[in-house]
Amino acid sequence: MHVLLIEDDPLVASGVVAGLRLHGMTVDHVDTAAQAQAALAASHFDVGVLDLGLPDEDGMALLARWRARGEALPVLVLSARDGVEHRVRALRAGADDYLLKPFDLDELVARLHALLRRASGRSADLIRHGALSFSPSSGDVRLGDEPVAQSRRELALLRTLLQHPDRVLGLEQLHDSLYGYAREVESNAVNVHIHHLRRKLGAGIVETVRGLGYRLGRAEGGAR
Ligand code: CA
Repeated sequence: MHVLLIEDDPLVASGVVAGLRLHGMTVDHVDTAAQAQAALAASHFDVGVLDLGLPDEDGMALLARWRARGEALPVLVLSARDGVEHRVRALRAGADDYLLKPFDLDELVARLHALLRRASGRSADLIRHGALSFSPSSGDVRLGDEPVAQSRRELALLRTLLQHPDRVLGLEQLHDSLYGYAREVESNAVNVHIHHLRRKLGAGIVETVRGLGYRLGRAEGGAR
């Protein structure tokens, strides 16, 4: 799960970044509305976590602007503003969820998974694809009944492919969902993880679409 965290409090931000990464998520952190805007233009995110009290613009105004131009990114608002009127305002402005500070990290993680589940039209925490089943919240991967151990990056890659089953994903989007858009890594890093995924889940699991990128293929198992 590629998360855009928009939060200007360095202490809160570092806690959230570390916590979400521990849960296998890829996090890009920005601390102003302007940077959030730039990040959204530069990369694809699965979910946004938005603080309302930002230095350059109120988070609510940013969110309203996104929604006005049709930006569909699921957004969880993180705020110290207590009171039902703030929550109602945020939800009306296009927030998908609202979490009051201080909050429990486990609750934030659970809510992000729930947001993504709803955004992809699933009611249960299990994605089935041929012989493969995957639990996004626990990271449990099975081929038939057999558990398949995956590294954190392999899980992130598999999650991204399963989230967009019919789409060709460019190398850049895959890179961003594994490492964050702000991070430079070796150019063949994503290919290495694709190779591992194919070895563990069958060569057909990732299809190469020449010149365009990659697409989720068939989960048959086999060559392990
Ligand atoms: Ca703030």
